Amino acid sequence: MATDILLGFDDTDSRDGMCTTYIASITALKFREFLSDYPMLVRLNPNIPYKTRGNGALSLRFFCEPVKREAKIIGYHQGRYVYTGSSCIGDIEKLGREVWDEIRRFSMPGENTNPGMVIFTRKMGDDFYRKAVTGVIENEKIGSLIQESTFSRHMGNGRGIIGATAACSWSGYPFTYEVMAYRFPSAPVVDENVKMMIADFVDKTGKTFNTIDRKNKVAAIFPNPRTPVIFGIRGMDPEALLRIAVDVVHRFSIDHDFIMTFRTNQGTDDHIIHGADVLREYSSYCITGRIVKGPTVIEGGHYFSLIEWYGGKTKIAAFEPTKEFRKVFRELKNGDLIEACGSYMGGTLNLERINVIALARTFEKGPPMCPACKRRMKNRGGGEYRCPSCSRKSFLPGFVELNRNLLPGIYSVPVCAMRHLSRPGDFPGGLA
Ligand code: ATP
Repeated sequence: MATDILLGFDDTDSRDGMCTTYIASITALKFREFLSDYPMLVRLNPNIPYKTRGNGALSLRFFCEPVKREAKIIGYHQGRYVYTGSSCIGDIEKLGREVWDEIRRFSMPGENTNPGMVIFTRKMGDDFYRKAVTGVIENEKIGSLIQESTFSRHMGNGRGIIGATAACSWSGYPFTYEVMAYRFPSAPVVDENVKMMIADFVDKTGKTFNTIDRKNKVAAIFPNPRTPVIFGIRGMDPEALLRIAVDVVHRFSIDHDFIMTFRTNQGTDDHIIHGADVLREYSSYCITGRIVKGPTVIEGGHYFSLIEWYGGKTKIAAFEPTKEFRKVFRELKNGDLIEACGSYMGGTLNLERINVIALARTFEKGPPMCPACKRRMKNRGGGEYRCPSCSRKSFLPGFVELNRNLLPGIYSVPVCAMRHLSRPGDFPGGLA
């Protein structure tokens, strides 16, 4: 009988170093013969306060079935491609102990680092993943998650068990891929201009998304420093991505240890809740309604408006890091019908995307047209208008329709401000 063996872990890194994907990669290299799939990089609720960076949890999957499986190319190590095998992991306790030893060896101790690891040996529904990607799970749940697992280990307050379980509970659909290159303990320093050159090269293959933000001069494939990740390239075709990554490390002489391919939920919008009638703090939503109060700006270049929808009135915002997205936000006027998507934090929906459904016609009060000469009258003050040619008077203003510098359509924040989970504007081919 076929058995699913799902191994998940999370929360091994601190702001000073490490990345949980690195531990997943070395574990995948070590147990490649037993893997049934790519390592899974599962992004969870992007608004969670405990996250170090991108709230990513990891899982490795083993599937012991009597038939031979087609091998997958999951990475590149010591000049060779790395394949999955079809051997069956026999001793789950031994697997658990060995992986936990690696986690203990490589995890970065820190006040906010609470590693957790679980193994499940049964099929799991995706309910727990759904909760973890859209909401907040209380620490009290950790005990029962441990009980339900076949094997578990944790350190600190054990919060990593939540992400570890959620990573196992992800169904694997819909998905994208990310290929990451590593050097331990920290990635080589790459000059900013060279980073832009590499990102441009990768982008021009036409196989990737969220690679470069030319306008804001951000080579998005390069992460923040202090981790072993050199770069991460995202797209839909795992083998093409791996070839591109191998080409990059050779072409640009990048000192690296290995490259690993992950199947991920990045770019899927899985964090967004549709159809809610109440907004909860730390969750992300798309709501549809009309603008009822036009944009105001505060110091620092943060813009706010008010939208009325069937859940009431909600403040929406475009913050400074969303750069040129604020230009779209600024153009929204009272009466515009929009779908607003973003994270609900501190009573405000922080937008990552706007779908402008219908623009309201907006009029400006001004001097009326002279009915006799068809010329626009002049404002004489005190509510009086007078025609400059025939001197006819009017006490009623006229209204001029304003041109809108906006078209209906979908507008997303630029690549430099894009969340891992958000569906990007430049998706090649769409989701599987
Ligand atoms: P990196 O992306 O660099 O791997 P990170 O940003 O993923 O780091 P972690 O260090 O993994 O951050 O910390 C996130 C913590 O929050 C983990 O302990 C994880 O179990 C927990 N967590 C994740 N999602 C939820 C959730 N929805 N509810 C409660 N806890 C969560």
